[in-house]
Amino acid sequence: MLFRAHRLFARFSKPTTAVGAFEKFNFPSEILKSFSEAGFTKPTEIQDKCWGPILKGKDLIGIAKTGSGKTLAFVAPAIVHINSREKIERGDGPIALVISPTRELALQTSKEFNHYGHPLDIKSSCVFGGVDKEDQRSNLFKGKPMLIATPGRLIDYIIEGAAKLSKVSYFVIDEVDKMLDMGFENSIKKIVQEIGSNRQTLMFSATFPDSIQKISKEFMKDPEEVRIGSGE
Ligand code: ADP
Ligand code: MG
Repeated sequence: MLFRAHRLFARFSKPTTAVGAFEKFNFPSEILKSFSEAGFTKPTEIQDKCWGPILKGKDLIGIAKTGSGKTLAFVAPAIVHINSREKIERGDGPIALVISPTRELALQTSKEFNHYGHPLDIKSSCVFGGVDKEDQRSNLFKGKPMLIATPGRLIDYIIEGAAKLSKVSYFVIDEVDKMLDMGFENSIKKIVQEIGSNRQTLMFSATFPDSIQKISKEFMKDPEEVRIGSGE
């Protein structure tokens, strides 16, 4: 009887949905609220596997197909990272940097970041090619703790001494496979040189060619590899 009651209890106490699956990561309540407002019930697989190590400060390479939720895999911990640091002043460079292969992706990532950062008053700036360089330069100094940039335009600002990346301690290379295909390897290396060695480095990609493995060895510290599925 007791045994059956236990079995019954076990059956009922087993979560039928993944309620609470977000809560185990200790995100600020503002972020958890945004997840629920978006209608998200649980982390995607890549988020579930990446958030633990990223929130612990580990370097990480995350590989999962397009549409699997990689943006939030690095955006939510970026907000936590920034939230734990001292506020930056106007004129300071960013604390977190994301490089994206295209203007469209940079803008989309910035929008997603601002959505989750807004309730905590954490904002991003965005710089990319194809628009006036003078107009965008001031975006580098508005005191926003996150900068999202395409590599070409960021290199332009680095060369003219306008980009200040010495405070960056959370660095993400998104769509690294695409970035390497587009010939941005040297640009990435140049950007890395501008950032202090006391940083967390993350890479995200839909595929995992040898070139990513090679580049990761150059500037990541014992990175965790998280692969979902067999790649595209
Ligand atoms: P990827 O970068 O892997 O191609 P995205 O980050 O663009 O994927 O996410 C794809 C879609 O999944 C977006 O519309 C995003 O809002 C949605 N998404 C992200 N996380 C979750 C989640 N935990 N639950 C449901 N949908 C999610
Ligand atoms: Mg993506």
